[in-house]
Amino acid sequence: MVLERIGEWSRYLTNPKIEKMLNSIKGKNLEPEYDIKIGYHYPIVEEVLGKDPNEAKKTLEELVSLGILNKYVIVKEIVCSDCGSSSLSLSLACPFCGSRDVYLNSLMEHTPCGSMGIESSFIDSSGLKLCPKCKIEIKNEEIRIVGKWFECKSCGRKLREPKLIYQCRMCKKEHTVEDVKFELIYGYSLNPKVSELLELSMKLVGSIIKVFKKKGYEIELASSVPGASGVNHVFDLLSKKGSEIIGIDFSFSSEGVDAEKVIKFFAKTFDTKMSDKSFLIAYPNLKESARNLVNLYKLKVIEIDSLDKASQILEDKLDSYLEKRDFLKVFRKK
Ligand SMILES: [Zn+2]
Ligand SMILES: [Zn+2]
Ligand SMILES: [Zn+2]
Repeated sequence: MVLERIGEWSRYLTNPKIEKMLNSIKGKNLEPEYDIKIGYHYPIVEEVLGKDPNEAKKTLEELVSLGILNKYVIVKEIVCSDCGSSSLSLSLACPFCGSRDVYLNSLMEHTPCGSMGIESSFIDSSGLKLCPKCKIEIKNEEIRIVGKWFECKSCGRKLREPKLIYQCRMCKKEHTVEDVKFELIYGYSLNPKVSELLELSMKLVGSIIKVFKKKGYEIELASSVPGASGVNHVFDLLSKKGSEIIGIDFSFSSEGVDAEKVIKFFAKTFDTKMSDKSFLIAYPNLKESARNLVNLYKLKVIEIDSLDKASQILEDKLDSYLEKRDFLKVFRKK
């Protein structure tokens, strides 16, 4: 169920820059632009994320591996196998002697008289097109090209196929067609399921951040906390103020969050000794077995049964938790 990935997605979907970028490609495809120096790149992504072309591409691939974006091949481009540049010049060479002095020759016919010959035999010393038989100047429309082929000026051979030489304009290395590299160039589109979640996640995570920020907390997304076992446990969100840390995980499932997720959450909060200061946010609710475990382990779970009221539910629950906490702190000090 795609909803379950939202915890994993939260750090991307709640990053304001990524959220803006994803919103900008909602309902359309993200296609690259070509630049002679940097090749295919994604200027919109670079601009929104404030990243260079390579970093922007990396982010796009990360989003693909997470299932947030889908990708499709636009072109398979030839690039330099040495430096990766796509700026290559193409020239022809003789496969026998290696000379670059390869030219296209043709067999021509002067249609009024039927005289045939190679191109050079139709041109006189002054460069004028002259029929070798009629000795009159030829009009363009009186010429028929009978055939064309390549020839090497150096060794005089007729070439069935000249050799293709790609020279990299950046590192100057030369490559034959056998040793160039191919690079797949992609277009990207938003996974349609993400569009709905983008909104949901923004709402929920936005509310959480708002409540904590109001109380002077700093938010870290997808941050880890070391456990007593030596294992590092990643929380979808960590709220920090001084030495105090509150961990938050999301679990969304259309059929109700199951016991397995609760057990994992318990193990994580137990190992990090954070069970009294961690929240599991469940949308839309817990399954019965999961609820039993929550009661047994005395875990803090907030069920978001209504999306419209999500912000309100979260703010109320977190507010009252933080107030109680502050009260207890003052009380303990006395
Ligand atoms: Zn190169
Ligand atoms: Zn040759
Ligand atoms: Zn003629």
